[in-house]
Amino acid sequence: MQLFQLQLSALVGLALWTSSVSALFPATNATKSAGQQACSQLSKQLGSKVASVAIDPSYIVSTTYYYSEQQAENKPSCVVAPTAYSDVQSAMKTIRQYNSTLAIKAGGHQTNNYWSSVAGGVLIDFKNMKSKSFTPGSTTGYFQPGNRWDDLYQYYAQFGMVPVGGRIGGVGSGLAIGGGLSFLSAEYGLACDQFTQLDVVLPDGSLVTATKDNQYSDLLLAIKGGGNQFGIVVGYTVQVYPQDPEVYGGLLIYGADQIDAVYDQVLNFTNQNTDPKAAVIATLDVIGLPSALDLVTYPVLKGLTTFIILFNVYNGPDGQPAFTQFEKIPHLLDTRKKQPYTAVASMVDIGHFSSGSVSYRAASHNSNTPTSAATLKAAIQNFQDFANTAHGTYDILSFDVQPVAASLVQQSRARGGNAQDSVDGPYYWINYLHSSLPGLYTGVPQALAELKTAVEKTPNNATLPIFLNDANADQPILQSYHAYDKLKAAKAKYDPQNYFSTHMGGPSFTN
Ligand SMILES: Cc1cc2nc3c(=O)[nH]c(=O)nc-3n(C[C@H](O)[C@H](O)[C@H](O)COP(=O)(O)OP(=O)(O)OC[C@H]3O[C@@H](n4cnc5c(N)ncnc54)[C@H](O)[C@@H]3O)c2cc1C
Repeated sequence: MQLFQLQLSALVGLALWTSSVSALFPATNATKSAGQQACSQLSKQLGSKVASVAIDPSYIVSTTYYYSEQQAENKPSCVVAPTAYSDVQSAMKTIRQYNSTLAIKAGGHQTNNYWSSVAGGVLIDFKNMKSKSFTPGSTTGYFQPGNRWDDLYQYYAQFGMVPVGGRIGGVGSGLAIGGGLSFLSAEYGLACDQFTQLDVVLPDGSLVTATKDNQYSDLLLAIKGGGNQFGIVVGYTVQVYPQDPEVYGGLLIYGADQIDAVYDQVLNFTNQNTDPKAAVIATLDVIGLPSALDLVTYPVLKGLTTFIILFNVYNGPDGQPAFTQFEKIPHLLDTRKKQPYTAVASMVDIGHFSSGSVSYRAASHNSNTPTSAATLKAAIQNFQDFANTAHGTYDILSFDVQPVAASLVQQSRARGGNAQDSVDGPYYWINYLHSSLPGLYTGVPQALAELKTAVEKTPNNATLPIFLNDANADQPILQSYHAYDKLKAAKAKYDPQNYFSTHMGGPSFTN
């Protein structure tokens, strides 16, 4: 405690010293960066909603809480925490006036560096815009972007309703603008398919309301899965659905000896399951240690550090017969039971903390061609080979197979379509994850390059969308979407000076 007080008084002293020095030698506009100039102006306009000092608790919270550590290392000139649509408009106009860089942050889970963080510019963090509303009897609900999915599941549960959102409740609303694969997606489509109205601040600071029937329907379609490059969403109106008090859900955990059996069954499920209430994710996980320790422990523990966590969620009272074949495979643990959907969304509570510097990469493969089984086996083998050669560079590696049901694509189309404009399902997405605690691991950049090579040994099917939420920034994400021409047209119309592409991170139009 005393140590903490000493540190605090030292920090306060340092801040006072810094401010007195800057009072003696005030930075002129000529010496201030564009971000600092925008921040000075924004402080005058928005007062305490702007935090520029590194020891301001608001600044600390906004700039340290990210799922991936590398984003937390980028420190903005200031954080704007808007509470009203007009604050976002003011911020955007001032950012443009000073030609500052920016980032937009909701839950902070994007793993691509700079996609929701910025070094030296203006960070707009939605943490204080958490309103939500619902009128009983209605089929739509409203929420602001500062809500995480567990906030929304809790809120709508009191009305016996559910929105379509993240499978892990700690993830933020930005999941929906990247598409949003949910446990409920085979039944209702992606999270973005539920948008009926978006209130959007455009890159020029103007506010528009986009619906599928008005003049901004092209903007609505682009933000349905196309990401952050078209405007800043300040209010979401989405379809919500009646929800039973309990669903059936949990995890089956298998040892490495069951890899073939489980993934054969995942492929069968992808192709043969016709019950849209059943959802599965099969994650193959490998735990590692920093290099020196790993050299000793890896050969001994190898078999024990690889396991499968299979998520089974059924939007009904029990999972039979959809999951019968999975439970016949010998497993180490079965946590499945009837429980509220809110509990299902927090059964693996990894959505609230960072496990280090995280890098994602996405793959998309057919599930029902004569070569599908061989492709999946090859992808698993390549992943395991990578895990062997790269051990010592990661604390967690993961290979997550996520079926895209035929009904999911049909539900997307029935709701007006989205940016992916996908071909018919079924098929599956793989999310590859490499995570390492900063400072403990060496050789990470080399390992990430090798992971890219390993993933590309089983090339994506070029007709399938590369899922934005799971993808690496270097992948041709938007280019893989069949609505790409519409996305380019929307980009040219709503961001004619290409401001977001040149001043903010996000999916690229030039990959
Ligand atoms: C633990 C974990 C679980 C996950 N589970 C799922 C899952 O079940 N399904 C799935 O599809 N994905 C999942 N993902 C991927 C996740 O969807 C993406 O990481 C997503 O970007 C996270 O959104 P966020 O709001 O938390 O993050 P942020 O990093 O804050 O935002 C994500 C992106 O959206 C932009 N953005 C956010 N809000 C707005 C806005 N209002 N207007 C314009 N742009 C905005 C940001 O600039 C950023 O580029 C998961 C990720 C993690 C780490």
